[in-house]
Amino acid sequence: MRKQLSLLLIVILLAGVAVFLSACQGQTPPSSEKTTADKPLTIVTSFYPIYLATINITKDVPDVTVINMTQPTTGCLHDYQFTPDDLKTLSEAQIFVTNGAGVESFMDKVVSQIPELKIVDASKSIPIIEGDGEEGANPHLWVSISNAIQQEKNIGQQLAALDPEHAAQYNTNAVTYAGKLEELRARMHQTLDGIEKRDIITFHESFPYFAREFNLNIAAVIEREPGSEPSAAELANTIEIIRGAGIKALFAEPQYPSRAAETIANETGANVFILDPVVSGPMEADAYLNIMEGNMKTLQEALK
Ligand SMILES: [Zn+2]
Repeated sequence: MRKQLSLLLIVILLAGVAVFLSACQGQTPPSSEKTTADKPLTIVTSFYPIYLATINITKDVPDVTVINMTQPTTGCLHDYQFTPDDLKTLSEAQIFVTNGAGVESFMDKVVSQIPELKIVDASKSIPIIEGDGEEGANPHLWVSISNAIQQEKNIGQQLAALDPEHAAQYNTNAVTYAGKLEELRARMHQTLDGIEKRDIITFHESFPYFAREFNLNIAAVIEREPGSEPSAAELANTIEIIRGAGIKALFAEPQYPSRAAETIANETGANVFILDPVVSGPMEADAYLNIMEGNMKTLQEALK
């Protein structure tokens, strides 16, 4: 009797395993469906600050590759010459994430040559500061932390719309990164709001958004076009401004070393500090936060 029972048990078990196995097979989706779901997505970013925002937004999204189109040593994108290699990189991608506000001067070429490429515009709904005289819109949006927050939200929303399957992850990442940026902004206000001297002198038109955010006054911009040294008259004018206002600190940029800064420093006794507009640096998710933190410490030291 006991032997018959064990046999029966074994038969039942085997039948159960067979049913389980066939059920598993039945659940395997057709291979075409699987391919669509896991299709790899290639996203190209136009330059460094947009790359940093995008790697934060795409964190943990499966099968996404983010490529920065320009070398991080290139400096500001308004000086950039678009190359045939860039066109090739973009033609192999599905999405191009741009800063907007005119800094990608080659967009007409991109849109006409690769009409199927989806464009993300990070400048959406950000108020633009117009340049002086013949200069157009100032494109250095990302140098203000509030703008950087709006830009990463724009990127998150537009990527979620273009890749709806992973919308939840893009949205979560956008909220997380915004939280880090907001925390930094609050700390920078705490550190910089009480400083008495608020005049700064910079070396290219990259700081108006930053200055507006932290209520600093850009008394002069020494070298408007990177690579072009100021004339003797412009130098004399700047030296006069510095002496007149008793300005003690000049801010050069790591990407644009300038002989002019040293000349002015020698003439006026002002010190030269480095303020970083985040157009180059390590290709790491926290780089924007770290560079801005460095700027905060530099300003604290320079303006005390
Ligand atoms: Zn620039």
